[in-house]
Amino acid sequence: MTSGTSAASRPFHPAFGLRLALWYAALFVGGWAVVVFLTYWLTAASLAQRDHEILNAKLGQYAAAYERGGLRALTETVQAEQRTAPERLFVRVVDRGAEAIVLSQPEGWDLRRLEIASLSLMDGTLVQVGKSTAAREDLLARFRAVLGMVTLTVVLVALTGGFFVTRSAVRPIRRLTRAVARIISTGRTDERVPLTGDGAGDAIDELTRLFNAMLDKIEGLVTAMRGALDNVSHDLRTPLTRLRGTAEMALAATPDLDRCRDALADCVEESDRVLVMLNTLMDISEAESGTMHLRREALRLGDVVARAVDLYRDVADAKGIVLTAPTPADIVVVADGTRIEQVAANLIDNALKYTTAGGRVDVDVLADSSRARLRVRDTGAGIRPDELPHIWDRLFRGDSSRTERGLGLGLSLVKAIVEAHGGTVDVETEPGKGSVFTVALPRGEVPSKSAGQA
Ligand code: ADP
Repeated sequence: MTSGTSAASRPFHPAFGLRLALWYAALFVGGWAVVVFLTYWLTAASLAQRDHEILNAKLGQYAAAYERGGLRALTETVQAEQRTAPERLFVRVVDRGAEAIVLSQPEGWDLRRLEIASLSLMDGTLVQVGKSTAAREDLLARFRAVLGMVTLTVVLVALTGGFFVTRSAVRPIRRLTRAVARIISTGRTDERVPLTGDGAGDAIDELTRLFNAMLDKIEGLVTAMRGALDNVSHDLRTPLTRLRGTAEMALAATPDLDRCRDALADCVEESDRVLVMLNTLMDISEAESGTMHLRREALRLGDVVARAVDLYRDVADAKGIVLTAPTPADIVVVADGTRIEQVAANLIDNALKYTTAGGRVDVDVLADSSRARLRVRDTGAGIRPDELPHIWDRLFRGDSSRTERGLGLGLSLVKAIVEAHGGTVDVETEPGKGSVFTVALPRGEVPSKSAGQA
C-alpha cells in the first residue's frame, strides 16, 4: 500500500532528464575540447617548424656567403636580402677573438621574443640568425580567441540541444510512468496505457504493449479469482444452510435418539461434501500455481488407468454400461501415479455419470513418438456447444448435469493436474452422441521392473 502511494506521488523524477541532458552536453563538449586542443597544438607546432626551417635555410645561405667571401660577402648578402625580403632577420657573426659583429638588428625588437639558430664554421666563426616569434604568437593568440568564442557557442548549443533532445526522448517514458502511476493509485486494472504511435518510441511502445499484456493477465486472474470466490461462497452456502437446518430441526424436535442419529449422519455427509469441495479447490490452486508436490516416477500408463477402471467396474455394471479397459502396452510416462489415476478416475466417473443404460465407455491408452495418450470415449449425452467453453471452469456444471451428483470441479482438477505434468487435455463431443476426452502426456523411458511395479 505504502509503496503504491509513494510511487504514485512521485511519477517521474525530473532530475533524470536533467542528468541525461548534462551527460549529453558533457560528452559533446568533451569531444569538442579534444578536437580544439589537437587543432591548436598541431597549428602551433607547424608554425614553429616553419620558422625553424626558414632560420636554418637562411643560416646555411649566410654561412656559405661568409665562407665564400668573408664578412664582406656576408654583409652584402644580408643587405641585399633585407632590401627585398618581407621580414627582417637578426644576423650576428662572432669570430674566434670573440668579437661580435651585428649585421642586422631590426628596430624595436624584443630580444626575449627572438628565436636564434647558430652555426659554427670550420675556422671557429659562429654565425647566428634570429627571427622574432611575435608574429607567430599574435597569430596564435588570435586563433585562441576565435577558438574560445566557437567553444562557448558549442557549449551553449550542446546544452540547449541536449535539453531538447532529452526532453523529447524522455517524453514517452514520462507518459508511460504517469499512466502506470494513475493505474496504481486508482487501482483500475481495466485501464490501458496508450501507445505513442509516433514511430519514435518503438522500444517504449514495446514496453507499453508488454505492460498492457501484463495488466490483461492480472485482470484475468483477478476476475477469475473473484468469480471462483463468488462461486465457492455460493456453493458453500447450500450445504452449510442444509447442515444448519438439519441440526436446528433435530434440536427443535422432541428428543429422540434415532432422529438425532439421522440428523448427525446428514450433518457428517454435508460437512464431507464441504471438505471435499475445499480440498479439491486447494488441489486445483496448487496444481495451477505450480506448488503441487508431484512424486514423479516412470510408470506404465496402462497399469495406472486399469486401476482406475477397476474402481468403476461395479458402478458401470449397476448402471448397465459396458466399460472396457485399455489393452496392456509398454507406454511409459514420468508422472505422479496417484494424480494420474485421479485424472483417469474423474474422466471415467463423468463418462459413466453422463451415459445412460445400454451405453458404452471405452478407455484406451495410445502413443506416438513423443506423447502418451489416455482416451475416454462415451456414448452419453455429449456437451452442448454453449457449455463447451466453460466445462474446464471451476464449479461449472452443465444444465443437464444438475440431477447428477457432483461439484463441478472434476474437469478443472483434471486440467490442472495434466498441465502441471506438462500435458494437455482436449474434448471432442456431439450432443446426444457422446464425448471423447483425450489426455496427452510427455512420454518417458521404459521403467525398470521395480519402477514398473511401483
Ligand atoms: P461435475 O461434477 O458436474 O461432473 P465436472 O467439472 O467434472 O463437474 O464437469 C463439468 C461439466 O461438464 C459437467 O457438469 C457436465 O455438464 C459436463 N461434462 C463433463 N464430462 C462429461 C461427459 N463425459 N459427457 C457429458 N457432459 C460432460
